Amino acid sequence: MWIDQHFDGGNIRVLECKDPQKIKLAIRQDKNAEFAQWFSFHLHGAKNKTVTIIIENASQCSYPKGWENYSVRHSIDGSVWNCTPTRYEQGRLIIEHTPLSSLVHYAYFAPYPWSRHQNILQYAARHGAKLHHLGCSIEGRPMTELSLGHGPKQVWIIARQHPGETMAQWWVEGFLSRLIKDGEPFSKKLKELATIHIVPNMNPDGSVHGNLRTNAKGINLNRVWNNPSVDTEPEVFYVRKRMLETGVSVCFDVHGDEGLPYNFFAFPWGIPSLSEQQTKDFDRLSATMCLTSPEFQTKYGYPRPAPGKGHPGVCSCWVAEHFNCTAVTLEQPFKDNAILPDPKVAWSPQRAAMFGASSVQALYLFIKESNSSNL
Ligand SMILES: [Zn+2]
Repeated sequence: MWIDQHFDGGNIRVLECKDPQKIKLAIRQDKNAEFAQWFSFHLHGAKNKTVTIIIENASQCSYPKGWENYSVRHSIDGSVWNCTPTRYEQGRLIIEHTPLSSLVHYAYFAPYPWSRHQNILQYAARHGAKLHHLGCSIEGRPMTELSLGHGPKQVWIIARQHPGETMAQWWVEGFLSRLIKDGEPFSKKLKELATIHIVPNMNPDGSVHGNLRTNAKGINLNRVWNNPSVDTEPEVFYVRKRMLETGVSVCFDVHGDEGLPYNFFAFPWGIPSLSEQQTKDFDRLSATMCLTSPEFQTKYGYPRPAPGKGHPGVCSCWVAEHFNCTAVTLEQPFKDNAILPDPKVAWSPQRAAMFGASSVQALYLFIKESNSSNL
């Protein structure tokens, strides 16, 4: 019996792995920062044995409340991810499981590997997306933007500034797949109204290193949009530069939230120049999202900051302030979606992708309505 984490996105430290009833592990911190919560590892050689896996440092992680009512995901084929009996007790996360295969992958959420990212770029390129090389990450990985459509509105979709929030990239995969699907009517109409720019992975280095929140320099990218440096956060620097070239009409920055079991928007209510039109548009976008996906809701979310109290380095704040437009942070759960629970899989890559696909329709309806109200 042994544990492996030496792969793309892997993260765990082995403290003890002799007794199947007492496998002791610890989550390691981001490469150059103190954040910790993401984990991803393989357990070998425990087929049909009941194992007890204990993550000893769960209470010292970044969001201990994230472990309450949470289930570790596991997969034996890399595509179906199911919940594993998990409990959070005395500061330790305890997983009890009887693997059906001699190689099981356990993770905080279904991982989204770099190889899959590359496959999606190829898939999009074959279906007419234009690929733009915006620059390189700290470690030299490409920052790639896909663009589709030819309309005057500029829609920006970015995901995985926080690399451990893999559901963000599953969401993008669903969104993009619908957008390039032949004959899909809402996609056709959206592409007439707008040019859609997508950066599926904002933090390639952090993703590969198995970080929770930061890039290879230990920078939280979603705090530096007001003044990014090419030396410490080139990922934001290059994407922002491109946004300044194209302009932005609507921006979705897609994330995951460790604590709240819901899909929700965090609007940049705290920006200094918040206009009445922006507030109206935020409400209209929320209402449209509720209509197009029962996975979305507006009752639960973050407390609303007072005007001027938002962090100017948060992507949605900088975009909404600079372009005077609709920009949002979209949060999805690591837990289950409490308004539509599915105890077998909880929030899953498939559900995130379907939610992403439904957002094509929401964006089309939102932009169509914006156009008619501006006439
Ligand atoms: Zn995030």
